[in-house]
Amino acid sequence: MDLSEKFYNFQFPRKIIFGVDSSRKVGSEAKILGGSRVLLVTDSNLMRIGVVKDVEDSLLGEGFDVEVFSDVEAEPSIELAEAVAEAARADRYDLVVGVGGGSVLDIAKIASISVTNPGPIRKYVGVNLLVRPGIPKILMPTTAGTGSEVTNVAVVTLLDEETKSAIISPYMLSDVAIVDPKLTYSMPPRITASTGLDALSHAVEALMAVNSNPISNGLALQSIEIIVRHLPKSYRVGDEESRFYMSLGSMVAGMALSSSGACLGHALAYSFSVTYKIPHGISCGLSLPYAFKFNAPAIRHRIPQIAWAMGIDPKGRSLEELEEAVFIRLLTLLDELNVPKRLIDLGVQRNDVERIARKLLTFTRLIQRNPRIISEDDARNLVMEMWSGPDNIP
Ligand code: NAD
Repeated sequence: MDLSEKFYNFQFPRKIIFGVDSSRKVGSEAKILGGSRVLLVTDSNLMRIGVVKDVEDSLLGEGFDVEVFSDVEAEPSIELAEAVAEAARADRYDLVVGVGGGSVLDIAKIASISVTNPGPIRKYVGVNLLVRPGIPKILMPTTAGTGSEVTNVAVVTLLDEETKSAIISPYMLSDVAIVDPKLTYSMPPRITASTGLDALSHAVEALMAVNSNPISNGLALQSIEIIVRHLPKSYRVGDEESRFYMSLGSMVAGMALSSSGACLGHALAYSFSVTYKIPHGISCGLSLPYAFKFNAPAIRHRIPQIAWAMGIDPKGRSLEELEEAVFIRLLTLLDELNVPKRLIDLGVQRNDVERIARKLLTFTRLIQRNPRIISEDDARNLVMEMWSGPDNIP
């Protein structure tokens, strides 16, 4: 065995606080980090429905001056990243607190690093391009999906290139992640479904990726089990228990993602989501069954584990039967969440398949992490299958 190939890298936030009402601790956690001026990053929707109020009050209660930046839009653009940098640099802030979905948390990360890293944010898009740590940041998710509160990534949309890219650096990790399931109670079913599918895709892709390792595998399998069990009820009913487990599952999946990385599923999702304005989680959820099926020959040892985590008993079934059962379970999950299973159902044109397939292969960072090599023909066939749906679609 060549042990030099077994090189693992783990990066997590300095502190993670998980639990119902944990968001009340934001003021005291901020106090431990020090300073007096907070830039609170959120979006106008969350301000309107009151999700941010208690967080702001907790900070004010500890004597902080709080300035609110609430201009974050879903799937934030690089232009928005430049705007938050301008706001963060315009005053002397000691701390950034992000309260929102992945879009908000990613912009909060950018606010933090913009204070200490000069120039346009665009020049930091890539891997390890930041030169200094940012000012301290506390991240508090209000969706159960991206896991951004525990990852080292901020995703930005490059509208001119109809694509997404990311700033990846250990400096993007939060100082404190506070995960309070209560902050997700107000999510409407549509957002519960799309964000939950994003979390599931993190877990399954982290398990498939070539960088998967003993720590990320444990986290990924654990989160697959939690998410597959609780996402349907969280979508249908949105009760406290399923919300609790979805917050936990998405956080654990985010940790797996941060250590192992996404692969083919995210590359597929990025190849059409910006052009067709499809929410991140929906594009990842639709891509996941097809990415799994394509990769199955390269991850045969993982198939019984994934099946087991999804509640499929592997006993007495061949690997082929298990592979098919996992594929069908992923498709039926989309049905349970009223999410389309085919690109044609998202309005993607047949004559766009070729272009999407070409674009897929441009996401080299994700493609290189995939356990199975993807040829141009594979890409075309894969996107075609996603467009029309598999023959045996349930
Ligand atoms: P989002 O942040 O884009 O939010 C979508 C909508 O849901 C917004 O209108 C928001 O106001 C609303 N919303 C959020 N929480 C709510 C609540 N509790 N109640 C009611 N409405 C609520 O959604 P998201 O899926 O969490 O984030 C997507 C973004 O995160 C994408 O840009 C994606 O690329 C990125 N992402 C980042 C990472 C990472 O590690 N940094 C990982 C995956 C995805």
